[in-house]
Amino acid sequence: MKKLFMAIAATLAMTALQGAEAQVCYTPTATTFSTITLSKAQAVKLRIYNEGMGGSPVKTVALRRCAADKNGYPTWNAQVEGDLSGKFYTLDVKYNGKWGGECAGLAAQAVGVNGHRGAIIDMAATNPEGWSDDRMPAIDARDIVLYEMHHRDFSIDPSSELKYKGKFLALTEPRAIEHLTSLGVNAVHLLPSFDYASIDETQLHNNHYNWGYDPLNYNVPEGGYSTNPYDPATRIREFKLMVQALHKAGIKVILDVVYNHTMSIGESNFQRIMPDEFYRKTPQGEYSNGSGCSNETASERPVMRDYMIESVRYWVNEYHIDGFRFDLMGIHDIPTMNAIRAALPPHIFIYGEGWSAGECAHAADQLAMKAVTHKMPGIGAFCDDMRDALRGPFNDDHQAAFLAGKPGHEESIKLGIVGAINHPQVDYSKVNYSKSAWTQQPTQMISYVSCHDDMCLVDRLLTSIPGITTDELIRLDLLAQTAVFTSQGVPFMLSGEEMLRNKKGVHNSYCSPDSVNQLNWTNLETYPQVFAYYKNLIALRHNHRAFHMGDAGLVTRMLEFLPSQDALVAFHIKAGVPGEPWNDIYVVLNGSKQVRTIDVPQGNYTVVCRNITINENGLGTVSGPIVEVPAQSALIFHN
Ligand code: CA
Repeated sequence: MKKLFMAIAATLAMTALQGAEAQVCYTPTATTFSTITLSKAQAVKLRIYNEGMGGSPVKTVALRRCAADKNGYPTWNAQVEGDLSGKFYTLDVKYNGKWGGECAGLAAQAVGVNGHRGAIIDMAATNPEGWSDDRMPAIDARDIVLYEMHHRDFSIDPSSELKYKGKFLALTEPRAIEHLTSLGVNAVHLLPSFDYASIDETQLHNNHYNWGYDPLNYNVPEGGYSTNPYDPATRIREFKLMVQALHKAGIKVILDVVYNHTMSIGESNFQRIMPDEFYRKTPQGEYSNGSGCSNETASERPVMRDYMIESVRYWVNEYHIDGFRFDLMGIHDIPTMNAIRAALPPHIFIYGEGWSAGECAHAADQLAMKAVTHKMPGIGAFCDDMRDALRGPFNDDHQAAFLAGKPGHEESIKLGIVGAINHPQVDYSKVNYSKSAWTQQPTQMISYVSCHDDMCLVDRLLTSIPGITTDELIRLDLLAQTAVFTSQGVPFMLSGEEMLRNKKGVHNSYCSPDSVNQLNWTNLETYPQVFAYYKNLIALRHNHRAFHMGDAGLVTRMLEFLPSQDALVAFHIKAGVPGEPWNDIYVVLNGSKQVRTIDVPQGNYTVVCRNITINENGLGTVSGPIVEVPAQSALIFHN
């Protein structure tokens, strides 16, 4: 929080909390506290506690008002003598003669249970052994394969055989790491793992579940995923152990960040320290609700923009985070997203949801929506065009599309195949949502068919295709993912799809019990062909540059579509892609129940994917000029 919380303790030896980004600067002999407020603040009170919750303050100190920061907000600070390690604190600001209420402040780096008090700890002491040697895997954006997961979904069921169920530490266990590396994903996208409000960390034995889209402390890991939420250092150390273990396995760690709204307005740190400064209001003076969660933040204001920039920088520097997925990125403004991009190293991967959940109180043409992804180089957005063309629209689980053999979705799938770039063979007038290309580069498009939101793929297929057989379900599941993983965009999959997960038909499982959300690992044995296909499909992508060229010009030159048929999309990647060992490659996606034929040049071709089996070494041959394509599956061959 560098720009918000000026370190005034220049004469103190900085040993623990990184002074430039802290509201608390701890040393064994004294601790300095600081915050900004609105100009009209009358007083700021600091309370020191022995406990993270309950008890009475052991000390109360008034902060002194000092110079204004660059945005004109006064800074306040106080130095408290003695070794405060292990103590807790709150800040409380008085406006108009009234105290706003105690809170952990804007920039707490450690908190007590449930996050209502800041904690004073030695941050360096939370570093696991070897942390200074922890290296983020250098993976180019075009090579990333994203795996979106929730800590509880992944490990909570006994069938996971993981020890640390529902905890950060599950991702340090060999079985978890082996599963991910065997599958071939190289980036985990963690659902909110910062401190959120909806889970009572004192009642973890009750096994409550939440996705976590209710931010409380943006710069602290969530206590519910630690083995001891009462000890402020534990969640921090365990989070770092998780990052370290994933990095050792060559897996990037990407955080889902939710700066677009807070759990509530009245109890938020933002509101208690600086009333109304962080939130947008409508012209009528009401709090705007573009998030659908009762409020929306105002990224266009310097105070919020700086906050977001410093927060992501902090996660990169302190926790070695490799990327960020911005929840409802369409609430944020374009200049802020570009400023975040500029503030982070190029290898930090950034993408988000290019939409909001309601009308925003900001100029529509300034919002970071999917359609203007081309104005945000180095930032990606989720492609709902191809997602819904495959499985049907978000707002109607019963409506099917390409996977049910329905015609009319071919151009939307073609948009997804090329990474939403301007390709001469995509007729954007026939695309479901986007009427023009929306990326500059294919790596700005996140290719997917399912995520934590709404139904997972199995549930969607069961709901939208009445009478579907298990055999068809598997064929169509694998067909859908073949579109995703042969797309020039960055492929993304929901954790557990490789185990044919379901969520018992629940559309919005954000607070459903574990019984709905948990992965059933025994499915790996029940449906071994499913895992094998996902694994081989991902390997096929990794091993073949043709499927992830990473450059719009190259994709335009080398990828050409064959004539589409109803519920059939076929494309040819020409010989000569730099680094690609195969010559001409043909990919055919057949969503129909009929065997179809396509026309290709005369010759013999080696089949590598047919009838829900993938083998890069070959599954036999086909000969042109007419090639038969099995129903409800993908066919891939090359010469
Ligand atoms: Ca929490």
